[in-house]
Amino acid sequence: MLTPKLEEALNAQINAEMWSAYLYLSMAAYAHAQGHAGMANWFEVQFKEEQDHAMILYKYIISRGGKVYLKAIDAVPEKWGSPLEIFEETLVHEQKVTTMINNLCALAANENDYATQSMLIWFIDEQVEEEDNVQKLIDSLKLIKDNGFGLYMLDKELAARSYVKPATLAD
Ligand code: MG
Repeated sequence: MLTPKLEEALNAQINAEMWSAYLYLSMAAYAHAQGHAGMANWFEVQFKEEQDHAMILYKYIISRGGKVYLKAIDAVPEKWGSPLEIFEETLVHEQKVTTMINNLCALAANENDYATQSMLIWFIDEQVEEEDNVQKLIDSLKLIKDNGFGLYMLDKELAARSYVKPATLAD
């Protein structure tokens, strides 16, 4: 059984992951509107991954005999100034999510819930990867500046990203 405190915190994290999914779908739509099809693809993959994060938590709560509460998802921004600004906002957001995951892990430790700590290790590793990937794209965009050819090549690279279902959600 999950403690009520932990059940509430895990449900709040489902909402945060769904908000992230919504944010990245908004970024994808904006990238499409700006003619950056590759960037749009990158954020569409990101959108699917965030839904997976929510599903992992959803399944976990159920497997522990807990109750899932789905609250309203807040509205997300819909406009950004430049590709660099989009990725900088993405990094700030992912750093916030990392803090949330760390807080969840600290709470699980406090509640003596080893199973939840074990489940959260996947998220801790995932956050390291998320931040690293986005930081690398920010570095590239800083090098490229307003160079059209550079942006064209980066967009091609972002177009190649494909979605992979996490093993934890394999049927
Ligand atoms: Mg996430």
